[in-house]
Amino acid sequence: MINVSKLNKKFDDNTVLESIDFSVEKGEVVCLIGPSGSGKTTLLRCLNVLELPNSGTITIGEKKVKFGAKNVSKKDISELRAYSGMVFQGFHLFPHKTVMENIIEAPLTVKKARKSTVLADGEKLLKKVGMFEHKDKYPDALSGGQQQRVAIARALMMNPDVMLFDEPTSALDPQLVGEVLRVIEELAKEGQTMVIVTHEMNFAKRVADKVFFMDGGFIVEEGKARELLEHPKEARTREFLQLLG
Ligand code: ATP
Repeated sequence: MINVSKLNKKFDDNTVLESIDFSVEKGEVVCLIGPSGSGKTTLLRCLNVLELPNSGTITIGEKKVKFGAKNVSKKDISELRAYSGMVFQGFHLFPHKTVMENIIEAPLTVKKARKSTVLADGEKLLKKVGMFEHKDKYPDALSGGQQQRVAIARALMMNPDVMLFDEPTSALDPQLVGEVLRVIEELAKEGQTMVIVTHEMNFAKRVADKVFFMDGGFIVEEGKARELLEHPKEARTREFLQLLG
């Protein structure tokens, strides 16, 4: 479903991702863990082409894009991007739109889908994330956990092959974390392919098939979730996990 080969990303002279290689199978859940500044968010943003890699190849679904030598076209970027849906740390809902208006916006404008179909999909997905009764509210009337559940429904509306989550619970009060993780866990059970940047190690242990430990722009170690988290092979992985306690 995802294949990344020799991916490099620099910000000016600062190399942030170096020769990243990995693949994710259909239905797999991968958690990216690692210290602050190790490149997790940048890697996720490259997959959604919110950041343009300097070189390397990204394949998602049927679309393969090679970055580097020549400029990548807008068409290639939007075709690659169509395979993934992104959920950010800070929800990013439109403040002047209701919950339902927020989630139907992209399918109506980007996919030019019929409004009746989109509304029916919206109802289904809001029910799935437990937010249907709030469909006419504005984001500022919702808790952070509720806003994040709406943001998940909004990403799902485009029917992405892959869902990308960038620390989806780190902006939330501790008592609101569980409701968001439960929704993501439910998606995992349904076989949704996902890549999740997270600091929630117990969640990663429960939900992930594979964990990638990143440090200094490299994937230092990858393995089955429980194996890597309980018996890390690399010293740097061990140190990181020990610091978390
Ligand atoms: P955290 O866990 O703190 O979110 P991270 O592992 O996700 O960290 P990134 O946010 O990917 O790390 O950052 C990796 C490096 O890239 C850092 O040194 C950061 O300062 C740098 N960086 C990220 N975005 C930019 C940008 N837009 N411009 C310049 N440097 C950036």
